[in-house]
Amino acid sequence: MLHVEINGNNYSCEEGKTLLNLFHEIGIHVPSLCFDPRLQPESSCRACLVKIEGKEHLQPSCSTYVSDGMKVVTHSKEIEEYRKTVLAMLAKDYPFEEVAKNPDKEFHQWLHHYDITKNSCDQEHAININVDTSHPFIQVDMSRCIRCTRCVRICNELQGQFVWHVIERGEQTHIIANSQNSFAKSSCVSCGACADACPTGAIEDKHSIKYGTAEKNIKSVCAYCGVGCEINVGVKDEKIVGIHPVYDSPVNKGHLCVKGRYAWEYVYAADRITEPMIKENGEWKKVSWKDALQFAAKKLTAIKMKYGADGVALLGSARATNEENYLIQKFARTVIGTNNIDNCARVCHQPTAKAMTIMLGTGAATNSYDDIEQAKTFLVVGSNATENHPVVGARIKQMVLKGANLIIIDPRKTELASLAKYHLQLKPGTNIPLLNAMANAMLTESLVDVDFIEERIDNWNDFKNFITYWTPEKAAKVCHVHPQLIRDAAKLYAKAKPAMCFHGLGVTEHVQGTEGVMALVNLALITGNIGKPGTGINPLRGQNNVQGSAAMGCDPAVYTGMALIKTEKNRFEDLWQTPLPSNKGLNLLEMMDAAAAGNLKAMWIMGYDTFFSLPDANAKQKSFESLEFVIVQDMFMNETAKRFANVFFPVASSFEKEGTFMNSERRIQKLRRVISSPQNAKPDWEIVCDMAKTMNHQNLFNYSTAEEIWNEIRQTWKAVYGITYERIEDAGIQWPCASLTDKGTTILHTKNFPAGKVKLAKIKFAPSPEKTSKQYPFTLITGRRLYHFNAGTMTYRTPVKEIEETDLLYMHPNDAQRLKLSDGEEINIISKYGSAILPVHIHTSSKQGEVFTTFSNKNVFINKITAPFRDNYVETPEYKITAVRIEKIDK
Ligand code: SF4
Repeated sequence: MLHVEINGNNYSCEEGKTLLNLFHEIGIHVPSLCFDPRLQPESSCRACLVKIEGKEHLQPSCSTYVSDGMKVVTHSKEIEEYRKTVLAMLAKDYPFEEVAKNPDKEFHQWLHHYDITKNSCDQEHAININVDTSHPFIQVDMSRCIRCTRCVRICNELQGQFVWHVIERGEQTHIIANSQNSFAKSSCVSCGACADACPTGAIEDKHSIKYGTAEKNIKSVCAYCGVGCEINVGVKDEKIVGIHPVYDSPVNKGHLCVKGRYAWEYVYAADRITEPMIKENGEWKKVSWKDALQFAAKKLTAIKMKYGADGVALLGSARATNEENYLIQKFARTVIGTNNIDNCARVCHQPTAKAMTIMLGTGAATNSYDDIEQAKTFLVVGSNATENHPVVGARIKQMVLKGANLIIIDPRKTELASLAKYHLQLKPGTNIPLLNAMANAMLTESLVDVDFIEERIDNWNDFKNFITYWTPEKAAKVCHVHPQLIRDAAKLYAKAKPAMCFHGLGVTEHVQGTEGVMALVNLALITGNIGKPGTGINPLRGQNNVQGSAAMGCDPAVYTGMALIKTEKNRFEDLWQTPLPSNKGLNLLEMMDAAAAGNLKAMWIMGYDTFFSLPDANAKQKSFESLEFVIVQDMFMNETAKRFANVFFPVASSFEKEGTFMNSERRIQKLRRVISSPQNAKPDWEIVCDMAKTMNHQNLFNYSTAEEIWNEIRQTWKAVYGITYERIEDAGIQWPCASLTDKGTTILHTKNFPAGKVKLAKIKFAPSPEKTSKQYPFTLITGRRLYHFNAGTMTYRTPVKEIEETDLLYMHPNDAQRLKLSDGEEINIISKYGSAILPVHIHTSSKQGEVFTTFSNKNVFINKITAPFRDNYVETPEYKITAVRIEKIDK
């Protein structure tokens, strides 16, 4: 501990703190206009200077570290006069009318504090610069710029986008974006970090201009991706007025992406459904909750009586809380009596969960985001992280900009690929030969971790014999990556340790998706890149609670906590005091097959636009049409509801309920109710309880708060027993966390695996049945991009659509030239399964012969053309390969 005297009072503090950090802790306020806790100190504004005994001149408190015995004076006549002069100089050209209009801005508060006015700083005239309103979320008014450079630095140091630049010198110094006149045309990715950091409002959220300052800020969790960023939701007059990042969050460290920061106005969309509805004679009719529940209960009961419990299937939701997912699977098993329960992890990371469970014993990320700053090398496979998991992507990018090694395995030239040391731009669907060849290179070039293998791997010799076949030369013929590049990448991952692997749906959404993840686990195991800081296998999960939805038991084969039905039925019967079904349940894809075959008659779908999201939609249409009864529970009349539902249950958004989400690094975080639900929309868990009561199962669903449900989950799954609502009030905890004193687990498998020694997987290559041909010469890859999220249900109801209006077909310039297509031209894309129309975007991110698009726009509906093939283990669809042809539309 260091001891320091400040203004005659004694304080103690830990080493490594700046004086300004300490002032913040002990409540001493000094102006610090170039300071932001997320940035390296700059000491350029000179407003935070203090007197330190023994120093001739005043010293900047933002960059001076506390030392033992230091004596500091923060406020004296001399210092205050000096600060006043600094502030008056900064305000020399300042438009003072803004001070009165926006008194809450940090700079304005200091001007007020030091009584600096237009007259006191002898202002002749304020600078006048046109206000740039071109961006849908951010307004730029550089007449209010005081050149603190927070915007420049935060864009560089947090996001890594380098949009803002300081130009000229001295009096002429000013800051501009890297576009000519319109900020919207810059390379900005709309994360809003600059607007969040700006102390004057020169760069400002349009939301704050429109709605004013929040009366209160309530901490919660982002409604979008599995990164699980913590947000502060600004509320005024019981309405959301803005969202800002939580600065000290271990997940996002004061950062957000465009969706978390700005894409929230869907909550107030005019077409939000806020009353329960029943469809009669093809027309929707608003009804009371009582009528809707009774109608649904009667139908489900009748179908169960007629066809048996397995005539009904239910889907949990990656957008619902852990508590809600726990309840819907409990409802399926206890009230209906079926294991026909699944969730949308089936179409994304179910292969990851399966592969990691088989090989390592736990189907979840082995490490934490905080390991990113410890890794020397990153292996990013099938993941466009800076667009799809932008805050994690930005953390990886920052490390690479600081010198960490990056290997990308991806058919597309993503943003990270442009920064990578090695980009292995493989042919889609050839992960297995490529990853096997990397293992081969590690073996033949003696790059493996002999001690780790000896200690923790069971079948090394057997694996060696198998992998000898997969020479880089042999793999190169299939995956179209040069053998030397395979060897170089293998060497870097094996030698520049610790090496951390992140993967996305480019691995899992293939017929060999589960095996693709297994092949990645092989690499981590043979190089010893697991169970240590800065290493591991880390799936970037898609939706905010997709990991939680599956872990809660929305899976036909497992109960809560991945407990196998085969072995844990008795335990759950005791817990729920109900006999449970032992029939094998259907997964989502099997549900579709069963419906088409006439063996499934009813579905209750919670928070998931299933029809729009599944591949080969024309075939799925037949499945849905074969169902006798469909309940959709959502905020909006999605495509599934519009076409097939008989009952619609309107739900609360994630801003309107309590509960918990589980992010990609196994962290359970608390969701808070920040506003009330409109009209009759209710949290999903309340609806499930109401349905259970209507079906006379009140005794098992008698909860009055989400916390009560969570406490029941803690009793069923010991890995989360130690995580109480109280303990995650300030920050989430990563499971396993078995006791109330356990701090949670940041890294799995540090000493051993649950099964002791583990086995490497010997994976043969089985190419996709979907093949290009003369008739369908292009390979279509689908995936997400930055601005729109999955089915677009939320983002298309926000101004994000002004930035990206629709799905675009990314095509290489040479292909576009050959087909005589120009950028933006609408084309017809045709596969064996259907056709769609969308504009082409000429771009070098796609290789020749390959095209890419997103799947978010209802008018495009790209899943009408995607192929029906599925992963060999868990039936995740192969969204990454569809053979297509592209036709010019004859005007
Ligand atoms: Fe939300 Fe994901 Fe963006 Fe974070 S990275 S703000 S969790 S969408």
